[in-house]
Amino acid sequence: MDKLLFHLENLANLDGIASLESQVFQYMKTHLTPYADEIISDGLGSIFGVKKSKNPNAKRVLLAGHMDEVGFMVKGINDVGSLSIYPVGGWWSQTLMSQRVRVTTNDGRVYKGAIGSIPPHLLTEAKRNAVVDIADLLVDVGATSKQEVLDMGINLGDMVVLDGAFVYLNEHRILSKALDNRYGCAMSLAMLEAFKDVELPFDLIAGATVQEEVGLRGAQTAAVLTQPDIAIVYDCSPANDAGGDKDVLGKLGAGVLLRFVDASMLPNRCMIERLKQTTIQHELPHQYYLSLGGTDAGAIHKAHMGVPTLTMCICARNIHTSSSICDVNDLKAAYHASLHFIGELNENAINDMIKCNQ
Ligand SMILES: [Zn+2]
Repeated sequence: MDKLLFHLENLANLDGIASLESQVFQYMKTHLTPYADEIISDGLGSIFGVKKSKNPNAKRVLLAGHMDEVGFMVKGINDVGSLSIYPVGGWWSQTLMSQRVRVTTNDGRVYKGAIGSIPPHLLTEAKRNAVVDIADLLVDVGATSKQEVLDMGINLGDMVVLDGAFVYLNEHRILSKALDNRYGCAMSLAMLEAFKDVELPFDLIAGATVQEEVGLRGAQTAAVLTQPDIAIVYDCSPANDAGGDKDVLGKLGAGVLLRFVDASMLPNRCMIERLKQTTIQHELPHQYYLSLGGTDAGAIHKAHMGVPTLTMCICARNIHTSSSICDVNDLKAAYHASLHFIGELNENAINDMIKCNQ
């Protein structure tokens, strides 16, 4: 569990949007390598460590998070040195004004900046009540001209990420950017490490995909790369419980999510039931969850001739902002549920999952 929190903090503080995940890739590679028999990667940048079983015909169990966070690319540079931005992933414009950002150039230089907002003194009543369009937002990196921006090495297409350093609000709540989905990356790392001295009756393939936030693109190629028989996807889902409504789905501290339906996948029933029984047996909190969104599971379960797939998500408040908040008890529940789920798997159980809907 300490390792999960260690990796989550380190990973959340890295910057990586879809197609620019190399910081996260390098971290994953460094921390998968000591526990993997083989490191594999695909042409888009997904990476996995393979822990082989003694059986050459063993089933293959895939564990995957996604490396990309929501962010922006530089879309334009105006004459006074302000940058316009193009969203990469889903944003609500109202979360953006006056946020601090980091701009990373193609050659790796990093600049601080902020998204502008017009001071209230200068706003008409109508403008004050209007929703701002992302296309109208401007990033200020301190430059005074277009030439100065170009001289800094900033070009169109460069990565812009909101600053939101990982901090503990107290011993059980974490505030950070990118909990969606460095949580998933950290879980894959923690799982491969946890089973390092355990002889498993299947190949364990743990790692992370790219380009989830733009439509599960890396998951498609990762499924071809890893050829899984079953898959577990770790992701961070939206919580909506801050208003105090007890009936909302997705409550902080209420445990790992039994995500029984979402817009991209209907999970394998045997797997979700097994997750539920695992949590009950080991007295771990769990909560049912329905999502209008999707995860990489949406692509992986449709790969090849069909891959029984389960999500093992936590929820966090304010995801897709600089300031998401998750609960350490949910991380603990997901970590231990995953440890038991994988540790108690065998060939028969995997075959039952494959035949579940027959
Ligand atoms: Zn995600």
